[in-house]
Amino acid sequence: LNRRLAEFGTTIFAEMSALAMSTGSINLGQGFPDTDGPEEIREAAVRALRDGRGNQYPPGPGIPELRTAIAAHQERRYGLSYDPDTEVLVTAGATEAIAATLLALLEPGDEVIAFEPYYDSYAACIAMAGGTRVPVTLRPHEGSFRLDLDELRDAVTDKTRLLLINTPHNPTGTVLTREELAEIAKLAVERDLLVVTDEVYEHLVFDDAEHLPLATFPGMRERTVTIGSAGKTFSFTGWKVGWVTAPPALISAVRSAKQFLTYVSSGPFQYAVAEALTLPDTYFEAFRADMLAKRDVLAAGLTEAGFEVFRPQGTYFITTDIRPLGESDGFAFCRALPERAGVVAIPNAVFYDHREAGAPFVRFAFCKQTEVLEEAAKRLKAAW
Ligand code: PMP
Ligand code: GLN
Repeated sequence: LNRRLAEFGTTIFAEMSALAMSTGSINLGQGFPDTDGPEEIREAAVRALRDGRGNQYPPGPGIPELRTAIAAHQERRYGLSYDPDTEVLVTAGATEAIAATLLALLEPGDEVIAFEPYYDSYAACIAMAGGTRVPVTLRPHEGSFRLDLDELRDAVTDKTRLLLINTPHNPTGTVLTREELAEIAKLAVERDLLVVTDEVYEHLVFDDAEHLPLATFPGMRERTVTIGSAGKTFSFTGWKVGWVTAPPALISAVRSAKQFLTYVSSGPFQYAVAEALTLPDTYFEAFRADMLAKRDVLAAGLTEAGFEVFRPQGTYFITTDIRPLGESDGFAFCRALPERAGVVAIPNAVFYDHREAGAPFVRFAFCKQTEVLEEAAKRLKAAW
């Protein structure tokens, strides 16, 4: 393994899912739903397969039906208008979107500012592109993890090429506010930075929180690459259909990298996702309400079990502080958890450069059936 990748080893999600399998534990580690997305969309995939649509290489940028549906979704939900032919690119999940974007836009030595804790593929892709990551730590403040805007401003140097934003944020569940996003936008314009914004949890926002795409802020559309995922929005994480929306020059750059990563992917599933994106708003509302109810079940269970819970405003993850349980090392805690309680969770420290800043935090996924969440909570309560 080369030096660029040596520090990364095996992703925590694979490690913890394997542990869940081998110990027969409830897997609240890796974020995937235990209920598949809509039946009618599965049927659409079957129809595409059967009718021979997408069984051979689809077009490089994605099938026109899907690109049109993605553009229509951005227009309908956010009033953002993108040309399906020049401003939309279909990718092999958001994972490839992140990789292709960073590989396309970074020169060796460029600095990328990302919030810490960060989704693990950001660090690996910045490294593969020869860039340098500059983490800005989100810190607990009145029940949620918040960004220090002064710290963000101070992190920008002459070498900063882009800001890598994620809202709603995995693993903390933080949703950036209008004010925070406006400040980020102002900074990006002032310092002439590109912005890559991972919005895969755009439909999972709770309570008073609102998802505001960064591209809607003044001066942002022309410098922003926005990333979405059918895995998250329609609960088909195995289909690996994601997308990028951005102005033509940026899409063209990302496509240059993408063509040599996968070239194309997910042929028949692209047809099904095109249909999914045109589902009525009631689908998105029901999805959100369902996840909200699950959040409340798991949050209550974890609180009762003695964890300090940071109630997420978005995503399907809850970050907890384990110190009230008399524990302080999230790694050790998560390694022992399957034996001790028959539950698997993720130590947030893996998402930090400053590992000590993340040490006491542990993430639980709640995209699981209510009985599963209740059983997990019961086991955790019995273990302490
Ligand atoms: N970004 C974030 C913040 C994620 O949590 C995930 C995965 N769950 C991804 C990107 C990758 O998405 P996909 O499965 O579409 O590749
Ligand atoms: N994004 C998912 C999570 O945060 C996992 C995706 C993966 O396994 N790479 O749990």
